[in-house]
Amino acid sequence: MTEAQKQEILTLKSKGNSYRRIAVLLSLPENTVKSFLRREHKQSDKSGICRNCNKKLELIPKHRAKTFCSDNCRITYWRKMKKGRDINENISRAI
Ligand SMILES: [Zn+2]
Repeated sequence: MTEAQKQEILTLKSKGNSYRRIAVLLSLPENTVKSFLRREHKQSDKSGICRNCNKKLELIPKHRAKTFCSDNCRITYWRKMKKGRDINENISRAI
């Protein structure tokens, strides 16, 4: 797998494509795509980056990994999430 293909996989996945579809689009075996994304996911779990502002988080050994750098970011993030959900609900109601 080339670096370009890896980037392409991540881009396609972030757009919501399935493993199978990514594999077909890039002419790669589905298992290659699957194991790459699984590995990538594990790494990003450990990287310790604030989910709201992408700031690097300080990792405290033997402590649960933090997901946000501050309470402010946590609140902002969940507010954004809630907003997105409300919009989706409104759309499905309109249909
Ligand atoms: Zn933050």
